[in-house]
Amino acid sequence: MFLDVRELAVRKARIRKSYSPGTLDFHSGEFRQIEPLEVRATAEFVDGQIRICGNLHTRVELVCARCLDTVVEEISRDFDLYYRSTTSIPEDDEVHLNLEDTDIAFFEGDGLFLADVLAEQVNLALPMKVICSSDCRGLCPHCGSNLNNEECRCEKSGADPRLAPLARLKQDWFKKQ
Ligand SMILES: [Zn+2]
Ligand SMILES: [Zn+2]
Repeated sequence: MFLDVRELAVRKARIRKSYSPGTLDFHSGEFRQIEPLEVRATAEFVDGQIRICGNLHTRVELVCARCLDTVVEEISRDFDLYYRSTTSIPEDDEVHLNLEDTDIAFFEGDGLFLADVLAEQVNLALPMKVICSSDCRGLCPHCGSNLNNEECRCEKSGADPRLAPLARLKQDWFKKQ
């Protein structure tokens, strides 16, 4: 859906849309949309800016940072966004620098694609780090087993895994004595 600034200047657009998985490009390999993304919003042209206000909801699948198992996260986000036309940027360099410090967004040409706005909002709504459960035991640093599912045979010494070869050398040395 393209939000055309000339159409929005005439009337506010009411948006009720559903994007099935695979129809939005999130520019990310870190998660996968697994349910339709539902959006309800209004778009209008006010004070020389496109304003998009509403909310979205979907579910995505991510990877646990500790055990690499998949984790399903519910994504719900309210947004109230303003986009200014790039042609409104003054030529003055000093003003241009100040604009970069603010979080004003811009649109180029006649408007913007709703899909791009939604993809960005989903990315912003994702947690920084996902863990399948607060007591996830992660992977064994020695053999890579998922410790939530199995006990591996590695030593539970809590020693720094980088020192493991050294510990083995020591054991061999003691055996020879
Ligand atoms: Zn986990
Ligand atoms: Zn192990």
